[in-house]
Amino acid sequence: MLNLAVILRESAESRPDAPAVMHDGGTITYAELDARSDAVAAALTARGIGPGVAVALQLPNIPAFPTAFYGILKAGGVVVPMNVLLRAPEIAHQLRDSGAKSFITWAGVAAEAAKGAAEAGLPEPYVVDGSIDELTVPVTEPFPLCSREPGDTAAIVYTSGTTGLPKGAELTHFQMYMNADIPGRIFAIEPDDVVLTVLPLFHVYGMSSAMNLGIRFGAALSLVPRFTPEKVLATIERDRATIFDGVPTMFGALLAHAGEHDYDTSSLRVCVSGGDAIPAHLLDAFEERFGVPILEGYGMTETASTITFNPGPDDRRAYSVGKPVWGVQVQVWDAAGRRLPPGREHIGELVTRGYNAMRGYHGQPAATAEAYDRGWLRTGDLGYADEDGFLYIVDRKKELIIRGGYNVYPREVEEVLYRHPGVLEAAVVGVPDERLGQEVKAIIVRRPGHTPSEREIVDYCRDRVAAYKYPRLVEFRDVLPLSSTGKVLKKDLA
Ligand code: AMP
Repeated sequence: MLNLAVILRESAESRPDAPAVMHDGGTITYAELDARSDAVAAALTARGIGPGVAVALQLPNIPAFPTAFYGILKAGGVVVPMNVLLRAPEIAHQLRDSGAKSFITWAGVAAEAAKGAAEAGLPEPYVVDGSIDELTVPVTEPFPLCSREPGDTAAIVYTSGTTGLPKGAELTHFQMYMNADIPGRIFAIEPDDVVLTVLPLFHVYGMSSAMNLGIRFGAALSLVPRFTPEKVLATIERDRATIFDGVPTMFGALLAHAGEHDYDTSSLRVCVSGGDAIPAHLLDAFEERFGVPILEGYGMTETASTITFNPGPDDRRAYSVGKPVWGVQVQVWDAAGRRLPPGREHIGELVTRGYNAMRGYHGQPAATAEAYDRGWLRTGDLGYADEDGFLYIVDRKKELIIRGGYNVYPREVEEVLYRHPGVLEAAVVGVPDERLGQEVKAIIVRRPGHTPSEREIVDYCRDRVAAYKYPRLVEFRDVLPLSSTGKVLKKDLA
């Protein structure tokens, strides 16, 4: 039997008085977190939540999130994490699609959540306002973890849904356990580590690589509900955080902010970047300013989350997302599904298999069959491998620009733009063009104090990339549209 909640129970047994969660309101020890989630498990059990029953969980990064998350699992339930920004119809879709029988939401979005629940024909959600006490019953003994099989579903996590309605990836107890265990071993996480957790916990990156990973190794989670560079830097200083997991836009914002202010970030020993490609220039500048390595990883919701990781500061390569983690395989395939050899000239779709791949999309056998090819999960990402097995992502398949028959990888052009001193942020997209099919367009946020013109940006790129690649169109904006995980929303720019 394997219930993912065992990671909390074991840490509570070995380190009862150690901090499990740090937040603005104080510190919660492992014994307290385990006991509180036991009380939630008992309350849910009393309300009929048992093995395999789905419970939706819509909370920001507050202590109630891990409390409820492990509480649902202990009762045998399946967690359906939900973005707090969803509107009622989206909430209703995820509730109906997952077959959730119960819904825990946050006071800050209670009205929208209630509308969504009503639309899906569910009773009123349980509303958590800071404390989760209302959803607990007193327990005197440790709650016996409901016995689950390793291949049973622990969570149904909805993909961002760039095409069609979001699909629910079914992630198993074993898959999520391994996704905490293996990456944690790679960067040798210790019980004394403090993991700054601002990545939303309803997304697999925060859920696996910050929360489950920290809890698995008895480290402390320093929870930050909403990203601002000020808040993150001040919290690193306050909680003496040692590990920071982020997406590239967060590293960019921290770097820009830290330039003007002085925070004590000397406690940091390692940062992890994932979710999107980190521009090499940003990685170098951040490492130099903060004196701490950024290890880049790559993953997706369907793999909960890690596929590859850079093994360590002394064993990594520029631009690479690293090597497949233990127990995971990656191949590069051409359009006909044939395996490509290593080499920069052999760009194809990355496919993966191993313990990391989802069971499938909940209730969607056709979409599941499409996601897999002969047992390999198709990632939709284009890349190549080098002779030593390091992998390089060149772009998402759907973001590839085909200009006059030539492939343009937006990321390559973005890397050039980021080297321009007047560019703070850059995104390259394809826009429809009658003659060429698509034209290359750069959307730029200028660095404060700099005012490069459109012409200057075009000329800068023309001098550095082949004629078919450089952007002919340039648009300046104040900010780039970001998803709730902090990824640039290219589909809103094209
Ligand atoms: P999601 O399912 O929201 O986690 O998105 C997964 C997608 O994010 C992947 O399929 C990639 O396109 C992208 N991604 C994640 N990590 C990286 C990375 N290190 N470099 C480039 N793209 C990444």
